[in-house]
Amino acid sequence: KKESNMLEVKDVKVKYESKTAVKGVSFNLKKGEVAALIGANGAGKSTLLKAIMGLLDYKGTIILEGEKIDRLKVKERAKYIGYLSQNPNDYITKDTVYEELLFTLNNFNIQDKSIIDEILKKLDLYKHKDKNPRDLSGGEKQRLALANTLILKPKLLLLDEPTRGIDVNIKSEISKIIRDLSRDGVSILLITHDMEFATDCADKFMLMFDGEIVDIGDSRVLEDCIFYTTEINKLTREFISGVF
Ligand code: ATP
Repeated sequence: KKESNMLEVKDVKVKYESKTAVKGVSFNLKKGEVAALIGANGAGKSTLLKAIMGLLDYKGTIILEGEKIDRLKVKERAKYIGYLSQNPNDYITKDTVYEELLFTLNNFNIQDKSIIDEILKKLDLYKHKDKNPRDLSGGEKQRLALANTLILKPKLLLLDEPTRGIDVNIKSEISKIIRDLSRDGVSILLITHDMEFATDCADKFMLMFDGEIVDIGDSRVLEDCIFYTTEINKLTREFISGVF
């Protein structure tokens, strides 16, 4: 059922004390759809992801598979939504890769532990099962963070710059994992500044500018993105040279 909506975001607004970072954003994501959220630094991308995860207060409505989730706390949402923050390595707390995943399952009272090996194999981490997560390479740590969300079998994945600081061959590994998950019906919303990576794995592109989604569609959106970046640079130059 690839046609049905997995996620519906309706007029979502997020305000920090002094500024509105997300100014009424609406979009839908179909089951198995991969969307890339692009835009300059400070456009509000991370804030939007955090709102969907329930990490920040927001106004508006978020619907997952037809059910409003606005009243659900982060831990409730985490049963359905996987979230990978900008610094997934900060969350390493245990002494082995296995224990790290076991901790997550126990946290959610999941009795069947067989999924740990299944996910470790899927992400090619099985051979590192007994290793200290701190000794993994950057790409392996990234995969462990992903394993930690996949272990709860999310319907929706939110990835904040999943390829940041990762070298080229691991990047293609991550886009393959994303494509596989999408084929299994998982919807994915990812933030990236890497246009090549975005074209590699996304079906849909959403351009965010100053708290709003200003364009949404196929890869042609990327051309707009270049326009907006140039426009921002122009405005900055004018600002600096005292036009305003
Ligand atoms: P980046 O690509 O740099 O992560 P972004 O598009 O994800 O940028 P956000 O991090 O969502 O942007 O930030 C949007 C705006 O909100 C920015 O102007 C930022 O300075 C501001 N902002 C972010 N976090 C906070 C906070 N905790 N308190 C106040 N303002 C914040």
